[in-house]
Amino acid sequence: MENKINWDELGFSYIKTPWRFLAKWSDGHWQPGVLTEENQLTISEASTALHYGQQCFEGLKAYRRKDGGVNLFRPDQNSQRLNRSAQRLYMPEVPEDLFIEAVTAVVKANEAFVPPYGTGGTLYIRPLLIGVGDMIGVQPAPEFIFTVFCMPVGPYFKGGLTPTNFIVSDYDRAAPNGTGAIKVGGNYAASLLPGKEAHAKNFSDCIYLDPQTHTKIEEVGSANFFGITADNEFVTPISPSILPSITKYSLLYLAEHHLGLTAIEGDVFIDQLDRFTEAGACGTAAVISPIGGIQNKEDFHVFFSETEVGPVTKKLYDELTGIQFGDVKAPEGWILSVL
Ligand SMILES: *Cc1c(COP(=O)(O)O)cnc(C)c1O
Repeated sequence: MENKINWDELGFSYIKTPWRFLAKWSDGHWQPGVLTEENQLTISEASTALHYGQQCFEGLKAYRRKDGGVNLFRPDQNSQRLNRSAQRLYMPEVPEDLFIEAVTAVVKANEAFVPPYGTGGTLYIRPLLIGVGDMIGVQPAPEFIFTVFCMPVGPYFKGGLTPTNFIVSDYDRAAPNGTGAIKVGGNYAASLLPGKEAHAKNFSDCIYLDPQTHTKIEEVGSANFFGITADNEFVTPISPSILPSITKYSLLYLAEHHLGLTAIEGDVFIDQLDRFTEAGACGTAAVISPIGGIQNKEDFHVFFSETEVGPVTKKLYDELTGIQFGDVKAPEGWILSVL
């Protein structure tokens, strides 16, 4: 299959690739899924996904190896997280084998769109679960659609790892016992305005504090936060309203088992940033993005540097991406080779 994509000009934008997977749930079970070329969904105007936010999603990537094959990174973790989101929003779970089948089929069908090794590009995969069918009352939908589509995306940083600055938001991303820990569109709708306000002030995104006390860092927009201390600790915030990032848990493991750091999930007080020599944001899309400085009210705190990535952040980045692209030996079960 030919395509006219210029791999060096890829950003993070929608590109219609030829094939997507679609399965419907009705009468209490999943119908067999199909690959389809149709990228438009026709759904009831009374779909709960549209009115009451009964929808959740995932994001993962396929990575081209040096030998031409293609890796998925911990797709079982995305499957399990999608099902935690589904449970919380009263939606049917997507069995793990159906999830893996869908993701694998979509990558294989669109293989020509997996960027070549060495370009830094990847195939971004978006699984989506939505409540559909006729339901105007606030009740679970009678039917659901599980779909998976994909598109090639460029490296997050074109000229290498470059720190950017963030600003602490006055808004809350999630309530203490709300939906912060599940990957749902509603959290993102609520983050659009704070994000716009941060961009208008030339910050890459906002930092959200814990909704209960507003004293501790929770998340960085759509990525998790980590800091490195002078004592070689890798620290990330702990809270029931943080979205549990698979990248973050992978870095906690690699920090401890591959780089010899002490890995800690604990409180990160916004007025104690001095303890960190480096800081970063992590997630599937951002991979690891170094944080130059954080604006908190009148105070601007710079970590390692506003222009250079710190040495520990760089090592973590190389280890993680090395594993994802198949150049570094992965911990047991982290890589699913699909091609
Ligand atoms: C998806 C997401 C992340 C990153 O999670 P990964 O599993 O590492 O991709 C972080 N924060 C929020 C709010 C998210 O939705």
